[in-house]
Amino acid sequence: MEKNFSLRELNTFGFDVKARYFQELKTMEDIRELIANPEFIECRDAIRVLILSGGSNILFSSEFFDGFVVYPNLKGIETLEENAETVKIRCNCGEVWKNFVDYTVSKGLYGLENLADIPGKVGAAPVQNIGAYGAEVKDTVCQVHTIDLATGKTKVFSNEECHFSYRNSVFKKFGVWSLKCEVFPLIFAVDFILKKHGELKLDYGNIRNYLIANNITNPTIQDVASTVKAIRAEKLPEVGVVGSVGSFFQNAIVSVDKYQEIKALYSDVPSYPVEIPPLPSVGRNDSVSSPAMVKIPTGWLIDRAGWKGHRENHVGVWDKQALVLVHYGGGKPQEILDLMKKIQESVNDKFGIEIKPEVNII
Ligand SMILES: Cc1cc2nc3c(=O)[nH]c(=O)nc-3n(C[C@H](O)[C@H](O)[C@H](O)COP(=O)(O)OP(=O)(O)OC[C@H]3O[C@@H](n4cnc5c(N)ncnc54)[C@H](O)[C@@H]3O)c2cc1C
Repeated sequence: MEKNFSLRELNTFGFDVKARYFQELKTMEDIRELIANPEFIECRDAIRVLILSGGSNILFSSEFFDGFVVYPNLKGIETLEENAETVKIRCNCGEVWKNFVDYTVSKGLYGLENLADIPGKVGAAPVQNIGAYGAEVKDTVCQVHTIDLATGKTKVFSNEECHFSYRNSVFKKFGVWSLKCEVFPLIFAVDFILKKHGELKLDYGNIRNYLIANNITNPTIQDVASTVKAIRAEKLPEVGVVGSVGSFFQNAIVSVDKYQEIKALYSDVPSYPVEIPPLPSVGRNDSVSSPAMVKIPTGWLIDRAGWKGHRENHVGVWDKQALVLVHYGGGKPQEILDLMKKIQESVNDKFGIEIKPEVNII
């Protein structure tokens, strides 16, 4: 166990945050030893515990995390089953996500190519059901293996038990353990089912146009992954060069009435239909349908509120994508929190929409 440990290299915002305690876990044995360690038990019951992987979706709200950071870093990729159609692969939590995607793409397996180059580790991918360019990890995850840091019990979650939805899953609420939690699952491995033959998803963002512009008429999985990487590199700050967590806010989900109200004022407002599962039945046999909702890209709202490219001292709004807040170096987490508040108020004043952070604020 390390004390007063710097997390500067372990949060992609690049803030110089220190953790009171820090422990890297490289094996299942390490995890079991930690759970049984009286020092950890004492800390666990008295202060906060955070599971940290790549730190690419975390904003520490101050420069000292007065708690215990657990850093799971188990490596290994294993093929479990294979038939004519599919391959089932287990990947341990500490593998770097983008390397895992490159590995599956190099094997010609379909499913993860649109998720190329997302920062972070494999263990965190199910937590917010990572998604990009029309794909979500939920479509390939078959099982999530967890160990409870409170009891040491293991549990395997099926895809249904993960309750995946837009940037959400059953695991999202467990990021920081406090005394109120009865369980605290650490994801140590994820099983994926990938296809040997499949259809490529080309209709989201600029993928198809990019392929045409590069004279690729019959794209392979490798072409799609390379295209996604190229488009991302044009739009997003480079990790390690400019601090960010990618999309800082979630996209806005609004009622059809609200959408019509905005459309009447701004005819170019982009929108996507939202599929919302029906509400649970209320005792009678009739099903209760959910109200129709519309997704409006929050980047557009922030841009229209005049924030794109805005800079305040060490922080700002990325000039190529307004959904991304950036730290240029030398700043403090509070500067991002202040900017977040100003943007939220400004978007609310202009459109009457409350935008919510996607990042986990700790
Ligand atoms: C430039 C940039 C671009 C991005 N683009 C995208 C994108 O296109 N799509 C997208 O969805 N996300 C994107 N992100 C966000 C981020 O990369 C993902 O959310 C990623 O999955 C986070 O992984 P991580 O290992 O860094 O997790 P962390 O930030 O360390 O943790 C994220 C959450 O998961 C929990 N957690 C982490 N590991 C475990 C574990 N083993 N067991 C249980 N809980 C755990 C943490 O407690 C925390 O609540 C982007 C980020 C950046 C910086």
